[in-house]
Amino acid sequence: MFHLVYVSSAIKPFSKTELVELLKEARENNECLDVTGMLLYRDGNFMQVLEGEETVVRDLYARIERDPRHEGSIILLEESLKRRQFGEWSMGFRDLNDKDVHALPGFSQFMNKALVADQFRYDPTGCLSLLNLFRDGK
Ligand code: FAD
Repeated sequence: MFHLVYVSSAIKPFSKTELVELLKEARENNECLDVTGMLLYRDGNFMQVLEGEETVVRDLYARIERDPRHEGSIILLEESLKRRQFGEWSMGFRDLNDKDVHALPGFSQFMNKALVADQFRYDPTGCLSLLNLFRDGK
């Protein structure tokens, strides 16, 4: 098992409809590929964790990276895993601009963190804490 976390920036802000479309496509593909993970979106920036078999995850990331809807993709973390951390999610999703998300326990400490590589440069595992918060907060 292997996981990869990256951040990227949308070419233009995604509408709710565009996000829903993206997720539908991602979930269908990921189910076939046995890939699980979580996608966060805030102010036009994405953070995503992809987990699964290493070659499958790397191939999928290469495809996502080429997607013209976003740019500036930077990998924050790539490593082997003992077991999946997002096993129940073909692709979980949180829009961090959403008011309901702000009410989740533990959210406040991360509220001012933009989803950009600079925020995580000195502590790449911080991105996992952020992603896990949304897994555990449902
Ligand atoms: P096709 O559907 O054949 O599309 C051909 C090309 O057009 C591809 O380059 C594709 O990226 C691009 N494209 C597709 N739809 C649009 C559109 N609406 N507007 C502009 N260009 C478009 N896919 C997954 O399978 N799993 C994921 O977890 C996943 N996460 C993603 C996260 C982000 C932030 C983004 C931006 C995309 C994500 N995708 C994900 C989508 C992925 O990039 C591919 O679009 C998708 O996997 C289909 O690939 P395909 O080769 O079959 O492309």
